[in-house]
Amino acid sequence: MAVVMLIEDDPRIRDAVSRTLGDRGHAVRSASSGMRGLQEVMDDPPDVVVLDLGLPDVDGREVLKMLRAVQTVPVIVATARDDEADMIATLDAGADDYVVKPFSAEQLDARIRAVLRRAKEDGAQTCIRVGGLAIDAATREVTLDGEPVELTRKEFDLLHHLALNAGQVVTKRQLLAEVWQQPYGGADKTVDVHLSWLRRKLGESAHEPRYLRTVRGVGVKLVDPGA
Ligand code: CA
Repeated sequence: MAVVMLIEDDPRIRDAVSRTLGDRGHAVRSASSGMRGLQEVMDDPPDVVVLDLGLPDVDGREVLKMLRAVQTVPVIVATARDDEADMIATLDAGADDYVVKPFSAEQLDARIRAVLRRAKEDGAQTCIRVGGLAIDAATREVTLDGEPVELTRKEFDLLHHLALNAGQVVTKRQLLAEVWQQPYGGADKTVDVHLSWLRRKLGESAHEPRYLRTVRGVGVKLVDPGA
């Protein structure tokens, strides 16, 4: 089902949750402190993290913030704090859901399945495919025929904007407005220069275009060269 990372200092809760989630087909790993849990999540990202807020070394909400700075993995917070303002702050800090102790295995399992379902739907929506190109807006990763393409921030934004409008000509003016936030124009050269860098990284040139087609005097469009 899912690889679950449980960060919880109370050994009884840790054992009980590990056992009951294990019985439900999940693979459960656990850590008894915030820093160890954080390290494990970074070393080998699970599908979902269940995070206790009351940890001995670092407050769970700090762990959540540190996690969020580097990871998009879904996090369900487990807490004894049953107050609404606190919960809202926790959700704002980046938790995907929460359970209040004592919680049942059924409840936690249902929350796990719900956040995984949402993560999957979000992933499907944020990843745009054009031919062999895959552009993931959530992770800002691009692959071409399965191979990663390293792009700068602006190159990514440019490609992403063209991908959102795949098959349609986008004018340089539109690109300046959307990607460079210069709605009243700037140097057209900015767009040209970034386009040529992007072309090089995609292994093509203006003379032998594949994905990036310039429409003279109008703009540029991203196309599937195999279509
Ligand atoms: Ca605790």
